[in-house]
Amino acid sequence: MKSIKFIFLLLLISVSGFSQVKNNFEDWKVKPPTVTPAENNLPPSDAIVLFEKNNLNNWQFANGEKANWNVSGDEFSVKIDEPDIFTKQRFSDCQLHAEWKIPDDEIHDNLNWGNSGLYFMGLYEVQIYDSYKDKHEIYYNGQAGSIYKQHSPLVNVSKPAGEWQSFDIVFTAPVFNEDKSLKSPAYFTVFQNGVLIQNHVELIGPTEHTDFTEYKYHAGKLPLMIQSHGSKVSYRNIWIREL
Ligand code: MG
Repeated sequence: MKSIKFIFLLLLISVSGFSQVKNNFEDWKVKPPTVTPAENNLPPSDAIVLFEKNNLNNWQFANGEKANWNVSGDEFSVKIDEPDIFTKQRFSDCQLHAEWKIPDDEIHDNLNWGNSGLYFMGLYEVQIYDSYKDKHEIYYNGQAGSIYKQHSPLVNVSKPAGEWQSFDIVFTAPVFNEDKSLKSPAYFTVFQNGVLIQNHVELIGPTEHTDFTEYKYHAGKLPLMIQSHGSKVSYRNIWIREL
């Protein structure tokens, strides 16, 4: 009789409490989509390719005119005296991969040394600059990989001018309430040349060159911008994944 009670107790435990708890930790509801990884300089299968080679058809100037920066095969470069370029497509939260190269044949007497930048939503800049071995020292929250005038990079992992470098960036767009006040700020996580340099840093507002900035309501999706800042910085292999 005792053994029957014991077996009954075991059955009760297995059909109720413990097995139930264990199953609750197994997620069978939402299956992650299958993606082919980025390999051999090819983007992952679910990425939107913003530049591969030969043309800037996915880009335009702010006034909607054709982006006529210099394109040469699988790379393009900033055209001095021409303005910033913007993607035709608009984005919000995203993962971006971009490769860039500082020219090794320029002389500057100002803060133009390899100066360019990736402006998410056209407003929030991850800085590009010639920061190799601090030869062209600038305030730390203005060097390569800084969130301009807001966050210095954790480390300086810059390569010399003339060598290709990479950014892998996760951007979380700010969210606004119905009354247009800020609900949640923007965040950046940035890897430069495979090394973490910004770890989920919070932005205090859009990039400004003065000290003060604050959020102003804007659309939920806006174009990505590449900055023209007096240096013929080159780009290649740019792709983005919407999150
Ligand atoms: Mg810049």
